[in-house]
Amino acid sequence: MKVLSVVGITKSGKTTTIENIIKELNRRQFSVGSVKEIHYENFAIDTEGTNTYRHKAAGAAPVTARGYNETDILFPSKLPVEKILSFYNQDYVLMEGVTDYNMPVILCVNDIKEIEQHKKEEYFGRVFAISGVAANKYCLKDFEQLPVINSVQNFELLADIIVDKVFELLPDFPPDCCNLCGYGCRGLSERILKGLSSREDCKLSEAAVTLSVDGKHIKIVNFVQDILKDTLIAIVGNLKGGKDGRKIELTINR
Ligand code: SF4
Repeated sequence: MKVLSVVGITKSGKTTTIENIIKELNRRQFSVGSVKEIHYENFAIDTEGTNTYRHKAAGAAPVTARGYNETDILFPSKLPVEKILSFYNQDYVLMEGVTDYNMPVILCVNDIKEIEQHKKEEYFGRVFAISGVAANKYCLKDFEQLPVINSVQNFELLADIIVDKVFELLPDFPPDCCNLCGYGCRGLSERILKGLSSREDCKLSEAAVTLSVDGKHIKIVNFVQDILKDTLIAIVGNLKGGKDGRKIELTINR
């Protein structure tokens, strides 16, 4: 699954940019999901007095509202990006305003000066295109080697760049959990977007230990892999017929 974030301050053109990208990716037969980061502290779709609100107040979590045309699962907390993405299985997921995860970024700005403010942010290294209000105002084709794309008029070009640049989502481990590629997860993302590395440079898929739960692959950081590998090899090596095997498979039924 390919995931990107469209980042910018309020009224910089993020939603319009996302709308135009979704329409064009859909037209190209890609399935697209989206996530909208909400910055209002008291935001909640469910309101006091509804039946679902009463379920929640009584202690249920999560609560699901199942309607004829829509099903809303309401979690009583802000979920991490990785957890949210575990509910998605689309070709692309577009996130509006999400900056706390390792993914490529389209920056939306009102004017060129605003880019300077974003330059101080950690995510700026993962910006691969500029769009939003400024892209419609100025006749700029690029800014410091980043393409500046008007998403209203040049939505096809913006989609071309997304298809070319955005890669299968990388993990977002802290460097002390995994640094097998030598750049850290966010560092590798930056290098891929600059054309200096490729998605295949993430060595996690070559891991010695893989885990799946109900058929779904779960990432395991290196030091945990080492612990599991050494422990299992020691146990299996003591069993009759287990000493010389090259591949160990274990299924646990709960
Ligand atoms: S090898 Fe993969 S998981 Fe490990 S640091 Fe690099 S990108 Fe992250």
